[in-house]
Amino acid sequence: MTGPAETELLAADAAGIARAAELLRSGALVSFPTETVYGLGGDAADDRAVARIFDAKGRPRFNPLIAHVPDVAAVDRIAELTGRARDLAGAFWPGPLTLVLPLRADAGLSPLVSAGLTTVAVRVPDHPLARRVLEAVGRPVVAPSANPSGRISPTEAAHVVSGLGGRIEAVLDGGPCAVGVESTIVGFNPEPVLLRPGGLPTEAIESALGAPLSRRAEGAEINAPGQLSSHYAPDARVRLDAETARPGERLLGFGAVAGDVTLSESGDLVEAAANLFRMLHALDAAGDAPIAVAPIPETGLGRAINDRLRRAAAPRT
Ligand code: AMP
Ligand code: MG
Repeated sequence: MTGPAETELLAADAAGIARAAELLRSGALVSFPTETVYGLGGDAADDRAVARIFDAKGRPRFNPLIAHVPDVAAVDRIAELTGRARDLAGAFWPGPLTLVLPLRADAGLSPLVSAGLTTVAVRVPDHPLARRVLEAVGRPVVAPSANPSGRISPTEAAHVVSGLGGRIEAVLDGGPCAVGVESTIVGFNPEPVLLRPGGLPTEAIESALGAPLSRRAEGAEINAPGQLSSHYAPDARVRLDAETARPGERLLGFGAVAGDVTLSESGDLVEAAANLFRMLHALDAAGDAPIAVAPIPETGLGRAINDRLRRAAAPRT
């Protein structure tokens, strides 16, 4: 699907903030500045908005996204913030630190946000505009860097317009970003583990913890996205490119191939992406009969859908 014809440029004033929040609440995509880089914001509770982020960026993979909220109270509504995670939150939020936390069952986020995992990455950004937008939206907002996949991260509104103009509804222009690199990501194993170095120096985290931060080891529990072990895969076996179900299989349909459940009857890849994790989880919960999946075109978001499905179908180790 194509985006809007024109991308609105919003000023960093009360009217611009209100417009950004109104658009986000209606499922539109709005880029806004954080202290790290410009984020491409979408309502984290809206499957279609989150799917459109992957489409707009041309991301070839559904890696999990970071949910942005204005304060710790809003974190508590979506994730379990306990122990040393809470200490780090107290020391560094708002700021360029992302924590990967257990997802609350009643969080209400799209499963695309966490790529179907039971953890969610959360951050309270330290930028007055970002926080005012998040407060006005009143729901968590996912906001990966607002650049086409593979291009450098935007630190000015003009960078966003040149990369994503015509593909997103609006950009809130707050001038240049102060930090200019992505947030530092820490997960819990249950000991704190550095998952991605970023804008908050490791030394600062270590001095707050009073202990060295372990680095993610190959094959460890928590892995970087893109690695199979960190991603949700159904328990049931998965067979791809199925035109029909074989006896005993359940069929996940697409387009002309109608299934027991269908990712998109009209063959819309954004709708299919929005439904993917929810439908895989539902099929998985309903039994262990193998899941056959209709062919999905290898274009646009179809590439990310097929990447996810191929890894779900890969032999398990
Ligand atoms: P960004 O592209 O800046 O939004 O960063 C998203 C990154 O957060 C992903 O590429 C992961 O490295 C990390 N991340 C998000 N959620 C999780 C999670 N549940 N488990 C592990 N890493 C995560
Ligand atoms: Mg990025």
